Amino acid sequence: MQPNINSAMDAAVRSYTRLPVYETPEQVVADLQPSYPVFCVRRHHISAVAEEFLEGFPGDVLYAVKCNPEPHMLETLFKAGIRHFDTASLAEVALVAEQLPEATSYFMHPVKSRAAIRSAHEVYGVRHYVVDHETELNKIAEIIPPGPETVIVVRVAIHYEGAVYELSSKFGAPVSDAIALGRAALKKGYRYGVAFHVGSQCLDGEGFEQGLQLADEVIRGVGAEPVCVDVGGGFPGEYLNSMGQQMGSYFSSIKKGLSGLSLPDDCRVMCEPGRALCVDGESLITQVHLRKDEALYLNDGMYGSFIEEKYNLHLPIRPVATREFATECQDYTLYGPTCDSLDIFPRTVSLPVDLKEGDWIEFDRIGAYGAACRTHFNGFFADTFVEVTRNFGD
Ligand SMILES: *Cc1c(COP(=O)(O)O)cnc(C)c1O
Repeated sequence: MQPNINSAMDAAVRSYTRLPVYETPEQVVADLQPSYPVFCVRRHHISAVAEEFLEGFPGDVLYAVKCNPEPHMLETLFKAGIRHFDTASLAEVALVAEQLPEATSYFMHPVKSRAAIRSAHEVYGVRHYVVDHETELNKIAEIIPPGPETVIVVRVAIHYEGAVYELSSKFGAPVSDAIALGRAALKKGYRYGVAFHVGSQCLDGEGFEQGLQLADEVIRGVGAEPVCVDVGGGFPGEYLNSMGQQMGSYFSSIKKGLSGLSLPDDCRVMCEPGRALCVDGESLITQVHLRKDEALYLNDGMYGSFIEEKYNLHLPIRPVATREFATECQDYTLYGPTCDSLDIFPRTVSLPVDLKEGDWIEFDRIGAYGAACRTHFNGFFADTFVEVTRNFGD
């Protein structure tokens, strides 16, 4: 019998990312007694959001790989039906190509090295390239021969206040420049599309409507039909102090925005969520290595996986129930493991009064940018991943 290509690939993917499976973090701790931090992967959360996007978003869903490039994340998203990947470096393009040979990458960084452009084009067959300046377009044109199979996606700047992280001060062309870029791309023999990014952790859908209006201005200005309109990422995660709306309300805003544009039938609509797809997909178990009065010294910190706390997004926290804890709580200062005195949690945290050395604390919602931004500083690098089937705190 012919081997089935899908199951062959499935097996290949699985062997990359098979993780030990536990029901709860308590079981992880009982088994490993880890003195090192352990990521608890909750695949069911990742698949559920992916399915919500695939059903609700009116177009193609590209996963923004930078948000969490771990093999388990790519695999889980692919299995849930995500086939398109927003990549921003050659390493990300290669990662996707090697782990998921049937997936498609889009080179969505407005600044690319010549070597990266050449390899993306020649080795990996990437077709979509973002630009926000004519010098980048000219660079691409010196490397990729003209032809309609290459799509130049023009990124227009949007200044939207409703996002926690603003991204347009670094990238994006003003509308008039974006129009000139679209025209120049066509003149060079490529096709063109339009993209924007409202910023990350966007608290309502209004930014997407504004972005689509800008896209409309660009398309009218260029005076030719675009191949794609890409509304970027920015869909929120749910933190203790920053919630955003239900995903459906963003999809409604996007549909409303799109209804004001007269796009050709074959124009693709795309989005590039990162955070929303993976935020709930991982928590982190840390251990208390020393208690000094109201201070707890943990084995993970600000050079580890807590970057979102640095930007004032509060993570849910709980002690891992390896023993009975006092019901009374107190505020603690949390220190990370490095020697830097800046390695301190930016807020105090309320936990049982009788926590001591050896206890474990679980931080939820670090799936987005947590693992991705951790460093090797001072020799500390969390790199143990297990799968956990129950929800945080259940
Ligand atoms: C970071 C980034 C994303 C993902 O943003 P989220 O806020 O995590 O959804 C998407 N597109 C581009 C171009 C990005 O730089």
